[in-house]
Amino acid sequence: MVKTRFAPSPTGRMHVGNLRTALYSYLIAKHADGTFMLRIEDTDQERFMEGALDIIYRTLAETGLDPDEGPGRDGGVGPYVQSERCEAGIYQKYAEQLIEQGDAYYCFCDKERLASLKRTVAGKEISAYDKHCLHLSKEEIREKLDAGVPHVIRFNMPLEGETTFHDEIYGDITVPNEELDDLILIKSDGYPTYNFANVVDDHLMGITHVVRGNEYLSSTPKYNRIYEAFGWEVPVYVHCPLITNEEGQKLSKRSGHASFEDLLDAGYLKDAVVNFVALLGWSPAGEREIYSLPELVEIFDYTHINKSPAAFDMTKLAWMNGEYLHAMDPDEFFRNAEPYLKASLKDGFDLKKIAGMVQSRIQLYKEIPDQVDFLNAVPEYDVSMYTHKKSKSTAESSLAILKDTLPLLKDLESFDNDSLFGLLSSYAAEKEYKVNTVMWPLRTAVSGKQATPAGATGIMELLGKEETLRRLQAAVDKLEGC
Ligand code: GLU
Repeated sequence: MVKTRFAPSPTGRMHVGNLRTALYSYLIAKHADGTFMLRIEDTDQERFMEGALDIIYRTLAETGLDPDEGPGRDGGVGPYVQSERCEAGIYQKYAEQLIEQGDAYYCFCDKERLASLKRTVAGKEISAYDKHCLHLSKEEIREKLDAGVPHVIRFNMPLEGETTFHDEIYGDITVPNEELDDLILIKSDGYPTYNFANVVDDHLMGITHVVRGNEYLSSTPKYNRIYEAFGWEVPVYVHCPLITNEEGQKLSKRSGHASFEDLLDAGYLKDAVVNFVALLGWSPAGEREIYSLPELVEIFDYTHINKSPAAFDMTKLAWMNGEYLHAMDPDEFFRNAEPYLKASLKDGFDLKKIAGMVQSRIQLYKEIPDQVDFLNAVPEYDVSMYTHKKSKSTAESSLAILKDTLPLLKDLESFDNDSLFGLLSSYAAEKEYKVNTVMWPLRTAVSGKQATPAGATGIMELLGKEETLRRLQAAVDKLEGC
């Protein structure tokens, strides 16, 4: 039975790397009909940020990555918050077991001494503890503990030999043991380090697959030594590749890719973000890229995660967001687009109709004002816009067409798209113009734009007869004035 966990530290917003870890953990569990668990890793008191817990819960709920087990959803291996596990004495108990076995020891060295310690391994200088306190006698240790000397508990790494572990993505990795520092298991404040707590918890909580960012790859051999000291089975490791920006640099807040909520604030849809994040380092077979969460569960295969860094391409995210907007139920699109339309348009327009026109043309809601602002007033435009090769338009033909059609439009009773189109296409036929040659100047005259969310007649219907005639007359005046 597969069991994965998402183990965030409540230290800030949920950046996309964290979201991807959560998503891959979820997909691996669900693909195998297994269990997805949430564990809160809050043992680093200095980095704790107020509100970060809410962000974690909210993000998981919004993205649909619902944990089967976690805080408030007991699966029998809780508590699921590490500070509570610490209070229950879990980590201390296991650290003491390691001390008894000779695999860990108390260390009373102060900061100054530690800062001076270096070890040269394969020509490189690394900071590593020199096992000074490993050699204290039982009496010395007792004395210092009784006197309340600040201390930590360290793991006693072997100095000889090698440690090999297997990662599903990166393969077998071997490191010489002399590179492994005697890492701290319990800090001087009594809290466990991440290094120790993740091993103890993953074991006690029955985690079969550990999914996390590849920044943990270099510490993983140390974790293996801890598993071995306890005689525990090592989980399957799935370390996910680095996520970079378009230039191959580490993602930063400044580049705008920072966190899930930043992306929502910037107008991206949560489903599009989840879909996009799923493809950061993994790709399904074939060309298709749009997948819902249940579809991802169906096809996700972690053995195809890539080890090369994944670039976070904002252009692709925008494209994907557009795909989600275009496929959205029109009523839902209207509900979401309405505030943008209201904010950018004068009263009196048929907002639902306009929403229907822009839906297939935008990638983000915030593009709406730009699409529709010409409905309030024709923007400044240059007469050269009437010259358009493809529709065989020139300034002369445009002026002639505008002057011809103005009286016809004045006489038209029902000013709807179909009647307008009927009238103008029969005018084109009569004068032996291409329909486009007639529509181009009309659309330019009523919009002042090269691209609009609807054709000439659609826009004329929206504007109504009076405003349309006013705009056409202004265009005639403009062309005649040149
Ligand atoms: N608490 C760690 C973090 O937020 C989790 C690493 C892991 O998944 O093991 O980076």
